[in-house]
Amino acid sequence: MSYVIQGETGDWEVVIGLEVHAQVTSRSKLFSGAATAFGAAPNSQVSLVDAAMPGMLPVINALCIEQAVRTGLGLKAQINMTSVFARKNYFYADLPQGYQISQYEAPIVGEGEVVLDMADGSTRRIGIERLHLEQDAGKSLHDQHPTKSMIDLNRSGVALMEIVSKPDMRSPEEAAAYVAKLRSILRYLGTCDGNMAEGSLRCDANVSVRKAGEGLRTRAEIKNVNSIRFLQQAIDYEARRQIDVYEEGGEVVQETRLFDANKGETRSMRSKEHAHDYRYFPDPDLLPLILGEDYVATIKAGLPELPDEKKDRFVGDYRLSPYDAGVLVAEQATAEFFETVARGRDPKLACNWVMGDFTAVMNRLGRSIEDPPVSAADLGGLIDLITDNTISGRIAKEVFEIMVETGKTAAAVVEEKGLKQVTDSGAIEAAIDAVLAANADKVAEYRSGKDKLFGFFVGQVMKATAGKANPAVVNEVLKGKLAG
Ligand code: MN
Repeated sequence: MSYVIQGETGDWEVVIGLEVHAQVTSRSKLFSGAATAFGAAPNSQVSLVDAAMPGMLPVINALCIEQAVRTGLGLKAQINMTSVFARKNYFYADLPQGYQISQYEAPIVGEGEVVLDMADGSTRRIGIERLHLEQDAGKSLHDQHPTKSMIDLNRSGVALMEIVSKPDMRSPEEAAAYVAKLRSILRYLGTCDGNMAEGSLRCDANVSVRKAGEGLRTRAEIKNVNSIRFLQQAIDYEARRQIDVYEEGGEVVQETRLFDANKGETRSMRSKEHAHDYRYFPDPDLLPLILGEDYVATIKAGLPELPDEKKDRFVGDYRLSPYDAGVLVAEQATAEFFETVARGRDPKLACNWVMGDFTAVMNRLGRSIEDPPVSAADLGGLIDLITDNTISGRIAKEVFEIMVETGKTAAAVVEEKGLKQVTDSGAIEAAIDAVLAANADKVAEYRSGKDKLFGFFVGQVMKATAGKANPAVVNEVLKGKLAG
């Protein structure tokens, strides 16, 4: 499943590296006690530190450190026992300090990896280069006043984890799978809520193109993409743009570009700044951050079962396909729901119901797994009735719809509506006799070799019994009668 773009001069490969800014789940900021809740009135969550009043000093938030270590461990990454906060200097109206406190040469987390689950069931390993902690900036608001810009400092000083991948991705689909998987891991860990619409997870994509076998060419960085779909569109557009530039004899320039979702294109924002432009130096207000082995070990011992391990367990214990298992474990709540339904039941049947009818109804009604249209216990009850032959799989779909509408259990619906499957062969025989008598012409055709009509007879019998006849019994009796 390789992604190759055919140009006039031959095939081109796309090289993608992603920088994800993930907001740390924490009630207060990285270096101040101000709150971080989303959607608060502008400038209502700003301490003197966040506003950079003279003489204010940053105080590290211990929880944010723990969350970064937790994330590093979840990404199977190197935890650096000594890391250093550095000042990244630049001027911007929403950055009152005149610098961002970040980490540069010595980040808290080093190399790790993320395993991608592709749609065809295959996996890909993407390297993590580093994870560092840094402050978010404030926000400039340009639509509040006809001639003035406003600043909201609520976000100023909020803790971010910048997670940098290696340039290991080769298609927009892989980039999408990477963000989806990273988001899933962060949510399992409880270190970032992954809410892209609220800006808790923002994505910058470094994109370049090359011919097969070449080294890396110049890349352009697409800034702040806030949805997975836009990320794919932006990468695809940008790769094709660069190929056009090369094929017309030009050179791609290293720059920062913005994705315009309305036009579906990227456009130049500014020429790329280099690390030396920021005049990084260790922040003299903060000591180096030194972690203890015990501290890291304790956090490691408290990690939950993560998506990859859960997926392996689902494939091993429940004999699910890697694809099905990957879908079920993407959200922790979905995995738990499935396991409740599957407990003591046929796991494949449970999987089909959870991923099939249940998910379809949940999406149709705009519900979520935390607020399901039918509880896991009730869905399990429905599956029990299929397994013990009380109802057929077809009637089960009907029962399920009524359960969704009424909130009643499967057993109650079957009882009330008289949907119990007919397995009594006498009753089924009578229905079959009636169908055959009413379709004498088709019976003759069948007997002269038109085998395909068998399905027609089954359909008629099921119709005559309102779908309640046991299909296996119908097949058996029908075969005997038609042969006779
Ligand atoms: Mn950053």
